[in-house]
Amino acid sequence: MNYETVIGLEVHVQLKTKSKLWCGCATTFGAAPNSQVCPVCLGLPGSLPVLNQKAVELGVRTGLALNCTIAVCCRFDRKQYFYPDLPKGYQITQFHQPLGRGGWVEVPFAAGQRRVGITEIHLEEEAGRTAHFPPEADNPGYSLVDYNRSGLPLLEIVTAPELRSPEEARTMLETLKVLLEELEVTDGKMEEGSLRCDANLSVHRPGEPLGKRVELKNLNSFRAMEAALAFEAGRQGVLLTNGAPLDREEARTWNEAKRKTVFMRFKEQATDYRYFPEPDLPPVSIDGQWVERLAAGLPELPEARRGRYLREFRLPADDALLLSKNKAAAVFFEAVLGFYNGEAKTVSNWMLGDVTRLLKEEKIGFTDLKFGPEDLAALLSFLDRNEISGKIAKIVLAEMFQTGTPPAAIIHARGLFQINDPQAIKALVLETLAANGEAVRAYKSGKEKAVAFLVGDVMRKSKGRVNPELLDRILKFELAVDEIKDIGLD
Ligand code: ADP
Ligand code: MG
Ligand code: ZN
Repeated sequence: MNYETVIGLEVHVQLKTKSKLWCGCATTFGAAPNSQVCPVCLGLPGSLPVLNQKAVELGVRTGLALNCTIAVCCRFDRKQYFYPDLPKGYQITQFHQPLGRGGWVEVPFAAGQRRVGITEIHLEEEAGRTAHFPPEADNPGYSLVDYNRSGLPLLEIVTAPELRSPEEARTMLETLKVLLEELEVTDGKMEEGSLRCDANLSVHRPGEPLGKRVELKNLNSFRAMEAALAFEAGRQGVLLTNGAPLDREEARTWNEAKRKTVFMRFKEQATDYRYFPEPDLPPVSIDGQWVERLAAGLPELPEARRGRYLREFRLPADDALLLSKNKAAAVFFEAVLGFYNGEAKTVSNWMLGDVTRLLKEEKIGFTDLKFGPEDLAALLSFLDRNEISGKIAKIVLAEMFQTGTPPAAIIHARGLFQINDPQAIKALVLETLAANGEAVRAYKSGKEKAVAFLVGDVMRKSKGRVNPELLDRILKFELAVDEIKDIGLD
């Protein structure tokens, strides 16, 4: 049966602050368990939270980049539930008056670019981390709690339910991740938990209202998210087809080993949490001029950059997207153009082609390159001046990549200059023709392919240095001369 899938994301971003949201404890990742804690983040009675201004600043920057309306006044609320990683018995979050509302992001989906709504962004505190140890012969199993993460500043970004497939959800999360990294509000490391995502999915028949949703928790990689959503869409699709669609919202989790989603619990309703305004924190009034200053200080973001690449450099859409969404690539690209007089598209071709391939092989990024933008510019200029061939340029690039040696040094040291002198090329061609009588005869009997063999021979002898266009013309000319001799016209 025909059904449509709808997905909305709740993205938790750990804001890059030196200290936690309510106390002065450090936020360093990987410290010894419970070494970065104090009475406030341990939730001890009598301790009082004090809001970290930097977290608000990073939240506002994010809200501005997501085109949200920033609240004039925001407040904090208590969300009550019990779990050992939450020693206070409630999480301080924003429920009634979040930091920002009503934004959107432009997302370059495979099917074309589209705006996705951002319902709201709000600040909240992180919980601790529980490690479960299963039963063994001599003990019944136990759990340990590390409160280092307790009280870390999080920004939750809630998207509208406007994503239509697992692929779109993935593209959305990738777009957000890049944006947040460029804003320098988070380090975005999914493997360290500083970027996490819950995904909500429902299915419905075309034209009918949205179905009941499942919230998928703990999706800690792009792959897990896409796989979980794909499984869930299929599962709910079957339920709908069988006439038994979901009648209650559930939270489920992704089981990587079984490659399926597993039921966790039915979803609480907001009333179950007994939200109420946090009495220990006053409302926060957000100064409009401060927000304006933060807006003026935002860097150029990938979307704006992509538009500029299309206009300013006339790059094809794919090139503009690939270069603009990777900040390191964008910085490198523009730096090369500063040293290079040729076409922007040539730089883009090399960067997205050979350079990217080399980077992928080594699993590194543009910031790790051993050569600089001026070196790539120099290499492309050698090519433009016809001083080296395209083939040789690739060889030079590979050496630049391995050693960081500037191209001029490599080309001089290894004698890689292109042979452009027609007399020199003619001499090489005649030598080849004389030594390969059989190929020459094959050519004359109509085997056009023999030309490729002869070209290959000249290239081998010259270590690929002969100007390929001149070679082609001179070789064909000499073959014709040879034939004319045969006929006796000569
Ligand atoms: P909660 O905080 O209880 O999870 P929200 O109303 O904040 O609920 O919604 C959270 C997410 O669920 C949002 O990302 C939203 O886009 C998504 N969502 C809401 N309704 C649906 C639906 N019917 N199908 C899919 N996603 C939905
Ligand atoms: Mg939720
Ligand atoms: Zn603390």
